[in-house]
Amino acid sequence: MSHSKTILVTGGVGFLGSHLCEKLISKHHKVICVDNLYSSRISNISKLQNNKDFQFYNQDVCKLSIKEKIDIIYNLACPASPVHYQADPVRTIKTNVIGSINVLELAKKNNAKIFQASTSEVYGDPKLTPQDESYWGNVNPIGIRSCYDEGKRAAETLFFDYHRQHDLKIKVCRIFNTFGPRMAINDGRVISNFIVQALRNKDLTIYGDGKQTRSFCYVDDLIDGIIAITDTKDSFTGPLNLGTDIELSINDIALKIIKLTDSKSKIKYLDPLSDDPMQRKPNLSLAKHTISWEPKFSLDYGLKKTVEFFKKII
Ligand code: UDP
Repeated sequence: MSHSKTILVTGGVGFLGSHLCEKLISKHHKVICVDNLYSSRISNISKLQNNKDFQFYNQDVCKLSIKEKIDIIYNLACPASPVHYQADPVRTIKTNVIGSINVLELAKKNNAKIFQASTSEVYGDPKLTPQDESYWGNVNPIGIRSCYDEGKRAAETLFFDYHRQHDLKIKVCRIFNTFGPRMAINDGRVISNFIVQALRNKDLTIYGDGKQTRSFCYVDDLIDGIIAITDTKDSFTGPLNLGTDIELSINDIALKIIKLTDSKSKIKYLDPLSDDPMQRKPNLSLAKHTISWEPKFSLDYGLKKTVEFFKKII
């Protein structure tokens, strides 16, 4: 068993963050969780709050103030659903830039290893498929998604500059679409929207013609991957793609969810979203080689678990 560490998780109350905190606690680490509850619900950490190894601070990463000695930082703080990150775009880009500088400075002060939750959105609307880590992407710098896309790209730049300039031990991971229990009902992303709509027998809302594609990874796989990349030797910085490479159209996912929930819902086509990426599929070779990681859970298994979760809360 690895030695117990003190680990800071920013965005630790969020969908991914709360699963990560739980996993780290189960591995006997001490976890300090920072979150401003902007797009997360405190109930996500209700199981952890009485744990003596878990400490929650209601703090914005842009005003980070941590006194404890930290060994590892996971920087997950940022709304990740297009609906949420576009609601206050200036705040989104500040979270990525100022927030990243704050966690990087803290890592420098503590000589801590630091993980950055980057995103497939750095590839924008990719002209290359599948996307591998050497692809520079196709991002509109002035569009409605750029607060997030360019924010996350700037964060990657900051991580690599701190690595080159200050010798920081960085791990940059590009996370592709992930789903699972604990997504918020109003998360706004496609899997949660479709499941909630299907369970309520409401029309499933598809933006555009539904031919755009995504590859969906189950949360437990993703969390194992991000812990594995953080455990790699110091010379490995990433960026590293994590996700699944099983690509589906949004039409296919809608039909699958209607069938799985035995719903009476129909499909309603709405106007396409501005700058919506038309395809997305990771090349996972680097993950296979460096961390021997591949997703274990099937899409059907993940969807069933997620449907069970939403049935309990709606
Ligand atoms: N989408 C949709 N209906 C919804 C929510 C999303 O058709 O109710 C589409 C969206 O236009 C995009 C895809 O599903 O093409 C994935 O969207 P999501 O917000 O889940 O994540 P993204 O990958 O765009 O960040």
